[in-house]
Amino acid sequence: MKKLIERIEKDGNVLGDGVLKVDSFLTHQVDPELMQEIGTTFAKRFQAEQITKVVTIEASGIAPALFTAQTLGVPMIFARKAKSLTMDEELLTASVYSFTKQVTSQVSISRKFLSAEDNVLIIDDFLANGQAAKGLIELCQQAGATVAGIGIVIEKSFQSGRALLEEMSIPVVSLARIASLSEGKATFLEGDA
Ligand code: 5GP
Repeated sequence: MKKLIERIEKDGNVLGDGVLKVDSFLTHQVDPELMQEIGTTFAKRFQAEQITKVVTIEASGIAPALFTAQTLGVPMIFARKAKSLTMDEELLTASVYSFTKQVTSQVSISRKFLSAEDNVLIIDDFLANGQAAKGLIELCQQAGATVAGIGIVIEKSFQSGRALLEEMSIPVVSLARIASLSEGKATFLEGDA
């Protein structure tokens, strides 16, 4: 997605350890216009799949997931990283190792929001080693739901996430694919949309 790549080039900051900081438009401050275009692009790519729910993980997946769900006309569910006192129902849970925080946490979704009838599109802000996406797939599998695809805003193609997801035969659509983050600069592969 050309506009996203231009924005990464303009406002992204490459941190030394293979991490891209995009907190001015995606992961902290959020640009709604760009998110809307991202949502429309994902929705268009998956419109033939009869998606019934969009699933993401808090916090930075929520903005792109919400615009995708709005365009598809379906609910968006975000997996929670901390158990809330109000989550008193049966939960689907999975362990996720966080690439940026370097800790393992339990993520959960209330059982009542996903069922075997659901055909899910997973959306996330970044794909690195694929652990967040794998945790979300596990939550869907616990509910008996089908995962029709995964939409990623920024894929770091030099890490192993895409291979892990493709091994599971789940289609991955990444709007920006980063080949390398060296010398303070991102270089890109051709994106999927
Ligand atoms: P994975 O689980 O694929 O290893 O990592 C994906 C998760 O880690 C994303 O949900 C995102 O929050 C975070 N992440 C991974 N790499 C980066 C990065 O370079 N920059 C930022 N801001 N977040 C990242």
